[in-house]
Amino acid sequence: MRFNIFTIPNFLSAIIRVFRNLILRRPVLVPEDIAEYRKRICVKQCTWYDPDTGQCMVCTCFVDLKVALATERCPKGRWSFYYKGKKVHNTT
Ligand code: SF4
Repeated sequence: MRFNIFTIPNFLSAIIRVFRNLILRRPVLVPEDIAEYRKRICVKQCTWYDPDTGQCMVCTCFVDLKVALATERCPKGRWSFYYKGKKVHNTT
């Protein structure tokens, strides 16, 4: 497991975003196809993905969890937040 100086602030802000979506009744999880799409980008196309730990080396998030959350986005801009009825992600 990897840590950097952003790990704890990133983790706390991720939790806050999840609670914000719960309060605003926005989706917390993305549909399965979006999660798979995001994960494919991380695992197959990104050099920041660490296959040994399953973490993104930029934000140190666990990719399996990160790609499933509507409140998360790629810190390198490869995929973005997800809003119900409005899929906001790159198509490359
Ligand atoms: S979240 Fe972005 S930077 Fe991190 S592994 Fe996935 S594609 Fe790469």
